[in-house]
Amino acid sequence: MSADLFSQEDNNSLQKDAAHSLDFSSITQLDQQLNELREKIHHYSYQYYALDNPTIPDAEYDRLFLELQTLEKENPSYVTSDSPTQRVGAQPLSVFSQVTHRLPMLSLDNAFSAEDLREFHRRVTERLASLDITVNEIEYACEPKLDGIAVSLVYQKGILVQGATRGDGKTGEDITQNVRTIASIPLRLQGDNYPDDLEVRGEIYLPKAGFEKLNKIADAREEKRFANPRNAAAGSLRQLDSRITAQRPLEMCAYSVGVVDGGQVPTKHSDILYALSAWGFRINQEMASVKGIEACCDYFDQLSKKRNALPYDIDGIVFKVDSIELQKQLGFVSRAPRWAIAQKFPAQEELTELLDVEFQVGRTGAITPVARLKPVFVGGVTVSNATLHNSDEVERLGVKIGDRVIIRRAGDVIPQIVSAVIDQRPDHARDIIFPSSCPVCTSPTVRVEGEATIRCSGGLVCPAQIKQAIKHYVSRKAMDVDGLGDKLVEQLVELGHITSVADLYDLQVEQLANMERMGEKSASNVIHALEQSKNTTFARFIYALGVREVGEATARNLAQYFGDISRLLTATEEDLQRVNDVGPVVAQFIVAFLSQQKNKEVIAKLQEKGVHWEVIEQQDNPQPLLDTVYVLTGTLEQLTRDEAKAHLQQLGATVTGSVSKKTHFLVAGENAGSKLTKAESLGVNILGEQDLINLLNEYGITL
Ligand code: NAD
Repeated sequence: MSADLFSQEDNNSLQKDAAHSLDFSSITQLDQQLNELREKIHHYSYQYYALDNPTIPDAEYDRLFLELQTLEKENPSYVTSDSPTQRVGAQPLSVFSQVTHRLPMLSLDNAFSAEDLREFHRRVTERLASLDITVNEIEYACEPKLDGIAVSLVYQKGILVQGATRGDGKTGEDITQNVRTIASIPLRLQGDNYPDDLEVRGEIYLPKAGFEKLNKIADAREEKRFANPRNAAAGSLRQLDSRITAQRPLEMCAYSVGVVDGGQVPTKHSDILYALSAWGFRINQEMASVKGIEACCDYFDQLSKKRNALPYDIDGIVFKVDSIELQKQLGFVSRAPRWAIAQKFPAQEELTELLDVEFQVGRTGAITPVARLKPVFVGGVTVSNATLHNSDEVERLGVKIGDRVIIRRAGDVIPQIVSAVIDQRPDHARDIIFPSSCPVCTSPTVRVEGEATIRCSGGLVCPAQIKQAIKHYVSRKAMDVDGLGDKLVEQLVELGHITSVADLYDLQVEQLANMERMGEKSASNVIHALEQSKNTTFARFIYALGVREVGEATARNLAQYFGDISRLLTATEEDLQRVNDVGPVVAQFIVAFLSQQKNKEVIAKLQEKGVHWEVIEQQDNPQPLLDTVYVLTGTLEQLTRDEAKAHLQQLGATVTGSVSKKTHFLVAGENAGSKLTKAESLGVNILGEQDLINLLNEYGITL
């Protein structure tokens, strides 16, 4: 038992209790339980307030806090002055200079249900009654509880002189330079009836759109994402370099005043807010002043419905006794005023366990890891699955099977895993391993360089992709089979009549006639259309295969270049990149697809069934630049880079995007940058635009 926990007074009472056969073991247990809870809460508070990096969801924190509050209420002699229940926030970070608040900045008590709210009202009424104050119906100001960080702004004679965080309520961090960069904070107050010395308090927050923008930037820079708008706002505000704060789309909403000297403010809280608005502050548009607690309950229900549509995050509603005189009478307890309460919305983030990861194959062959979760109630529904998107996301989260994870579900948004609670990782946690073969058709999976998604390579045979593959194959720009609509394809696949595009040509009139909304006549028409589709072009056939990224234009170029399927089937990535429009990614997709034995078998079967085209005679194309590698950089004046690339490729050259030892020539236009420097350092031959044009002319290409 720690010394501070066990004061002399406690000692005496303990000795007294001992006479009544006190159970020492249960005292030690309680003491230990309290200590453990406080330690945990201190740890999480430090992560949240000081480091802006929460490691558990708010709901979990709130549960721990409530547990401690309840235990302390039942055992008042065990309350310590350093207990989290007695303090606001956490100590300010020492890297900032400190500001002592002239009036403490308090926190708010929480309510988690309408019952808690009514209970709060009962406490207010009883306290007023005990003070001999009778109020017919208490007026409450209702305001959304913005999820950002509290700020104190001091104005002397209307000029902003200081901005500070709440810190531990007594001492905050001096963030004057940073708050000056926020557009919704007036540097000078409007009008002339403001007090000489005025402290305005409010919340600095990031609207949802700003939060998404910051995370997109973080993704692009491969930096850590912000867990939620609150942390993003706090992190943005507590920057030592105010230029960084200036770049963040922060906003501020005023919700009260602190010190008021040399002038007056109105006598009702809601009127103070209107005065603040007149002096140039943003106040919350949803703010309302209502009579009685039932009206507060109604307000809560209305705002709950509106919550997701608001452009900023709120985590509850704050109800405040509107009369400043009554507020003064009610006073405050250690960390919160008695005249206000925050009713929290049901949590949008919760803690659960990642039980397993399964892999689903989508219509296009994309393999998506799906998290199987221990069911958890979050955002109003029970969630047991969440998508993990792709391997990049799994890597970014650093999550393992068995981990405790934070799940977020806001509004109708698909539930997602926000993070893993690494410090609670169990010993049995194991890595998430992506399958090397498709879980549906066992074809090898491929990951094209630069793509986050892993795909099944069995595009023509994989049951997960087959409906999509067949719909594409028969579509107008592909094999153009009239009368074979999406619904019919789906039925045929579901009934097992076709398992690949090749089976289309085995269909019989009777089979089709038995399908929904089909008759003898339309069935014969489909068979006829299928028959006709056999006579096609090589370009259409390539397009019909449905290789990823191979659209009509690319298919035409491939057909033109290779002339027939046998040459295409044996083409390497390098060969493919000589084709107009085909870059390294498309080349990888084509090779991955065509190297699949099962896909090759379907192609062969299609030919056996009679699908044919006119072989395009390879032009007598001398390809004088075969086996030379070019890179283009800078701005060309007489032709575009794409045109230059196409001409070079026509002559057989390989045109790549980056300079390496394998590069033979760099064509450098105006303002060439790092590629030119690199080419010079590697001793690559450098050509100017005119050199290129001369070269093209030499081989008969005139511009
Ligand atoms: P709070 O956020 O529950 O309430 C007080 C704060 O509400 C004020 O300081 C102010 O910043 C804000 N507020 C927003 N709108 C307001 C309005 N209209 N009027 C008045 N105040 C308004 O209290 P707190 O002490 O800042 O934080 C406690 C909460 O923080 C916990 O309930 C928990 O959810 C969260 N927390 C989470 C972790 C974690 O690890 N996840 C750790 C610590 C705290």
